[in-house]
Amino acid sequence: MPSRHERRRLLVEGAVQGVGFRPFIYRLAAEIGIQGWVSNSAQGVLIEAEGPRARLDTFLAQIEVQKPPHSSIQRIVVETIPSTGISREVAFEIRTSCTAGNRTTIILPDLATCLDCLREIFDPTDRRYRYPFTNCTHCGPRYSIIEALPYDRPNTTMHAFVMCVQCRTEYENPLDRRFHAQPNACPNCGPQLSLWDATGREAAARNDALLVAAEAIRSGAVVALKGLGGFQLLANACDPDAVRRLRERKQRPDKPFAVMAPTIDQAKTICEISEEEEKLLVSSEAPIVLLPRRGHNLLCAEIAPDNPNIGVMLPYTPLHHLLMAELSFPIVATSGNLSGEPICSDEHEALTRLNGIADVFLVHNRPIARPVDDSVARVMAGSECILRRARGYAPLPVELSDALPVMIATGAHLKNTVAVSVGKQVFVSQHIGDLENPEAVSTFQHALKDLQGLYEQPPELVACDLHPDYRSTQLAQELAEQFGKPLIRVQHHYAHVLACMAEHQLAAPVLGVAWDGTGYGTDGTIWGGEFLSIGEASFARCVHLRPFRLPGGEQAIHEPRRAALGLLFELYGENLPDVPQLGFSPSELNILKWALVKKINAPLTSSMGRLFDAVSALIGLRQRASFEGQAAMDLEFACDGINTDRCYPIEMANVTTIEAPRGRMIDWSPVIEGILADLANGVNAGEIAATFHNSLLEMIICVATQQQIEQVVLSGGCFQNRRLLEGSIRRLQNAGFRPFWSQKIPSNDGGIALGQIAAAALTFRPLSMICGGKDVPGSSR
Ligand SMILES: [Zn+2]
Ligand SMILES: [Zn+2]
Ligand SMILES: [Zn+2]
Repeated sequence: MPSRHERRRLLVEGAVQGVGFRPFIYRLAAEIGIQGWVSNSAQGVLIEAEGPRARLDTFLAQIEVQKPPHSSIQRIVVETIPSTGISREVAFEIRTSCTAGNRTTIILPDLATCLDCLREIFDPTDRRYRYPFTNCTHCGPRYSIIEALPYDRPNTTMHAFVMCVQCRTEYENPLDRRFHAQPNACPNCGPQLSLWDATGREAAARNDALLVAAEAIRSGAVVALKGLGGFQLLANACDPDAVRRLRERKQRPDKPFAVMAPTIDQAKTICEISEEEEKLLVSSEAPIVLLPRRGHNLLCAEIAPDNPNIGVMLPYTPLHHLLMAELSFPIVATSGNLSGEPICSDEHEALTRLNGIADVFLVHNRPIARPVDDSVARVMAGSECILRRARGYAPLPVELSDALPVMIATGAHLKNTVAVSVGKQVFVSQHIGDLENPEAVSTFQHALKDLQGLYEQPPELVACDLHPDYRSTQLAQELAEQFGKPLIRVQHHYAHVLACMAEHQLAAPVLGVAWDGTGYGTDGTIWGGEFLSIGEASFARCVHLRPFRLPGGEQAIHEPRRAALGLLFELYGENLPDVPQLGFSPSELNILKWALVKKINAPLTSSMGRLFDAVSALIGLRQRASFEGQAAMDLEFACDGINTDRCYPIEMANVTTIEAPRGRMIDWSPVIEGILADLANGVNAGEIAATFHNSLLEMIICVATQQQIEQVVLSGGCFQNRRLLEGSIRRLQNAGFRPFWSQKIPSNDGGIALGQIAAAALTFRPLSMICGGKDVPGSSR
């Protein structure tokens, strides 16, 4: 007996738009022999399917099994509805999008060029031969071109380009790879390249523009390239003069430049690449991957001075592939901005903002809806850890355990990102940058409006950092007033730990180890070496690093030697030992000592980042830093290849030695005394650096043992240090604890916005319902 006919409505939620989901459903329905239709909606993909019950069951099961490669299904909501009479529906059809209802669908990130498209652009017989804007449903721009939801061509920056007959035929054929590929284009109807001189005058067009740009790079020029999510500055990575020129013009003296290698094989001649790292390089996310460089390689030393690692990426758009095929040597590919500013994404703006930096501009006429930088990742403890989350990852959401009212979080001050929660999803924006200039603040405001605008829902709450002077805090205040909603101020390190808990769906109790450079504490001092005990509704600062003063305040970030002086002063008072390696002149030393004695412009800090700085300065690695974390990186790199179990003594100090808050402290003084003794005995810097790292691991074990909390979260910028992170994980596991660390969301301040959302959500739900105790099997790998 044939099974009974039924009609079902399916709502597929998740990352299901712009990945060929509807043609997949169309083909599957035809294959199984059911009628109905499929359409994009503001919540995902909507399907009505009618046919024998058994076939409908097969259909439903096969959706999960066969779904397109870049899609991800969060859930399928199924309801049985009255039959509409299948005789009127001769087959299955793809309908135009319905735009009604709350917007919850997931926007896909931009995807690197697929192999099929790559073949076409290098095939002289193909109509897309050498066409730099080739894409299909498996690859190409998404987030960087979407202006509104649902994801359909009129809602993208491609709306101005009218498809030619051939492109239109592909676009409308459900069996074609380009069926409803929204940015579909060809040389006849799509965007085109143009080469501009520094004044914006066109010097060449189309393929010639590409060839002239390649020649410019070859001859040592700096080329500004309008890429996928914004401008990149390109220069020959093997030419020291070209790289030096770029450094001078960009005002970036030492910070490493990322490099694009033409092929994975060439990348392997530059760096040591593990299997895991190779997978990441060739993935459709195609991030910059931090890799250990080989001893002798093509790159000039100016790429990453004093740094054993190189950030490497592979070409990820047809434009990059075509350019790299012309060059066949590695190039610098760094964000198109002046240091500290956000990435530039408009060609006319670029002429002004990159004026004096770029010699020529390789641009195109496909508008970029929002700036999306290249992402940066590092493989640590055997898995991918995102350090800068943008292209390829943003704005994929982190899913919480329970649906929550709409909330907005404005993040921190450095490496800012913003977040918006809609239902169970928390959408974390792409990396915005440091909110230290008007351009960054305007990008920040744009990103907030943008995320909110895509989902078109006003917030019930606004969350921000506790720091009263952060620009992000002030802007959050304005937003809260504008919406007439409460403002929740979240302590910085609490947000660090909650971000990691949200990522791993980890319930309390948790011991949070939050180590970073700077964060405003509940007592108004600068925190950064924190052990937080996380409970259901709040946190306690159970242990922290013994505080010390930073003479000159902010200036200490640029001069690690000032942190060293602050430590020595705390230890020895005015009669501190002679430390010529810090390089202070007698008058500088007098002024700084005076500031410390008088406690004027010498704020207290318990910052682990500053302890790293101090040690780096003491052992003579770095006295002045040109970017945040530079001295700490030196210290990490100094340990390379050194295996030692040696450790300076660790003491829990229960005393209040200065006007620090009462409570338990980890005392660094035996560590510093040990280092000074080692220095006096001529122990080399590498050995001291490794011993210092071991001492930090000991600190973590010491506090974890004292607190007896099984789940330990390692968060904050310090854990971008591979030796520290991997060592902590190993030691904690060996001692029977379960360590967790940030992977999908950066452990640095790029993760703060997510943590702020989780903290603000406590207004509505207990923590267990926000980060609800999902057991994470990957935690003990
Ligand atoms: Zn493709
Ligand atoms: Zn066309
Ligand atoms: Zn931080």
